[in-house]
Formats: sequence, C-alpha cells, structure tokens
Amino acid sequence: MDAVAIEERLRAAGLRVTAPRVAVLRVLAEADDHPRVDQVIDRVRATGIPMSKQAAYDVCEALQRAALARRIELPGGPARYEARVGDNHHHLVCRSCGVTLDVDCAVGSAPCLDPPDAHGFQLDEVEVTYWGVCPDCTRQHEEGHVYER
Ligand SMILES: [Zn+2]
Ligand SMILES: [Zn+2]
Ligand SMILES: [Zn+2]
Repeated sequence: MDAVAIEERLRAAGLRVTAPRVAVLRVLAEADDHPRVDQVIDRVRATGIPMSKQAAYDVCEALQRAALARRIELPGGPARYEARVGDNHHHLVCRSCGVTLDVDCAVGSAPCLDPPDAHGFQLDEVEVTYWGVCPDCTRQHEEGHVYER
C-alpha cells in the first residue's frame, strides 16, 4: 500500500499525519501475521525509520482508538495488531507457537452468535477464537515423537 493511501486513511480517521503513524500503519496494512509491537518496531526500523519502543506503543494505541487498527489480546500471549478492521473476522490461534491467522466470519456482521439468553443486553460483539495446533507444530510434534523412539 502506498504512502498516499496510508495518509488518506489517517486523515479520514481524523488523525494528524506523522511519519511514525504512516510507518506503523503501513507495516500493519502489509502484514498478514498480526505482528506484536516488537515485530512492528523491527519492520519499521528495517525501512530506515527510527522508532522507539514507547513511540511504537503510542502509535499502535492511537491507531486502535481511531479504529484503523485492531488489537488482539489473547490469554497467555502478547497483544498483536492488524489493520484489517470492520469486517468482524475471527482468528485461528496455534496453542504451541502462537501463530494467528484470519478466518472469515460465516455471518459477516457482529454479533454473529446469539446467546440462548442475552439477559436484556444490547449485544454488539462476540469474540470468537479458534484454538488448536498449526500444521507446522503438528508436524514437529510428530517428528519429535518419531525421534524419541
Ligand atoms: Zn504452531
Ligand atoms: Zn485478523
Ligand atoms: Zn462470526
């Protein structure tokens, strides 16, 4: 995604365009692996733009508040970010290595699951996470097993 499109996204969300914001949003827009903040920093720095840890956290926060990024926080893992927002997609997470993949919502809009009893709540979101073991980890476990014998 080019810098102009990134700047337009920032402006449309009411955010001032700054070099760190453009750099982080670009990294997120180009990522499909839901990077952790430390990975975002590495990728921004790899493009030649200096970035402190604090700046990266601040920018990720600002992007999330402006609904340009989504933060995924799962038990036992660090926060991850993505720029794919607004489509109510879900995630597949590997228990072993933490790899986090997108999976489309079968319904497409939130909340996509109705509880048997909503207790009068006006529901607007359901978080769905599919936990399991990814193919790479499954293979490694199997190889490890063979090796042990
Ligand atoms: Zn895995
Ligand atoms: Zn995602
Ligand atoms: Zn769904």
